[in-house]
Amino acid sequence: MNAKQRDELKGLLLALHSELTEKAPARIEPNRTDDARIGGDEDEQPLNEMMQAIASNRNRNQEGVLARVLKALAKLRDDPDSFGDCEECGDEVPLGRLRAMPYAELCVTCQGGKDAPKGRATRRKLTDYT
Ligand SMILES: [Zn+2]
Repeated sequence: MNAKQRDELKGLLLALHSELTEKAPARIEPNRTDDARIGGDEDEQPLNEMMQAIASNRNRNQEGVLARVLKALAKLRDDPDSFGDCEECGDEVPLGRLRAMPYAELCVTCQGGKDAPKGRATRRKLTDYT
């Protein structure tokens, strides 16, 4: 990766960073009781709880992304030469992937390995020997 590409990704990371920090966390207002609707309360309560759960999930995801953005920015500053290298196998993460996700830590192959269902490859051997 050259300096120009790093600059481009740094710009993307900074834009993401300000987007994540300036935006107020997603928050769902508690449902107001609507007196005109009969029987509405019983239906609304579970929905409200579900919405709260979704909102808090979204906040968690935002924090996770922010942490990775900060980590990527720190890496750009402290260790620019290895920026963009996969943290698992050390290969360069393709620039197209970094443009889409400048905080990506893994190449597609390693990320794919992490996302794959666990225990598929290991399960097999047990049956081979029975
Ligand atoms: Zn990798």
